[in-house]
Amino acid sequence: METPGQDIAANLESVRQKLAAATAAAGRPQGCAQLVAVSKGQEASMIRQALDAGQRIFGENRVQESQAKWPELRSRHDGIELHLIGPLQTNKVRDALALFDVIETLDRPKLARTLASAIEKSGRAPRLFVQVNTGREDQKAGVAPEDLGGLLGLARDELGLQIEGLMCLPPFDADPGPHFQQLAGLARQHGLMGLSMGMSRDFELAAANGASLVRVGTAIFGPRSQPPPR
Ligand SMILES: *Cc1c(COP(=O)(O)O)cnc(C)c1O
Repeated sequence: METPGQDIAANLESVRQKLAAATAAAGRPQGCAQLVAVSKGQEASMIRQALDAGQRIFGENRVQESQAKWPELRSRHDGIELHLIGPLQTNKVRDALALFDVIETLDRPKLARTLASAIEKSGRAPRLFVQVNTGREDQKAGVAPEDLGGLLGLARDELGLQIEGLMCLPPFDADPGPHFQQLAGLARQHGLMGLSMGMSRDFELAAANGASLVRVGTAIFGPRSQPPPR
């Protein structure tokens, strides 16, 4: 990955062009892979530059940090769509529902149950993705591939949750291609259309492999003052 410049609007434009080129080269329709600008660890002033450049879909990995930043930004800009892309603790579910339009990190039965009851109480239903731990890393969130069927059965059939797709975060040192292909295969197998995969260093490859969402932070905003994702 090239080091991004300081001009966030220019970085965004460059990422959008690369994304469009990668989807076109794969023979996919224009606009089928949407760009989630990952703004975790970034100041509101940086996010405002992306908003001014027309970006409306953003990803954050912490509920508390998002509560501090987004209500103010939302009050000034229409059409914002906020994605939670980090682990969700059950005691934060109510706060998450109040803030996020999309929750990409459903990964365990207890969270599915808590989400289902909170959705019923609040009347707010976010779009949901199940995070799959394709690399089977002990320290990483996500349901193991062999447990996905069981979790989907609970979430969809028993709890009535609508699941849009699957999300993955391949191991940092692995070739991401096989992980993207595995996630696409699992989605097909379970009749899911959505695929959230690909970050700054590999979003073009993810788009070529069928991503419906790519999550790009550093290539848009530059480095952040926060440790890398787990
Ligand atoms: C931080 C993060 C990203 C973006 O990573 P970059 O390398 O900055 O593009 C994508 N997905 C998840 C889950 C993340 O935590």
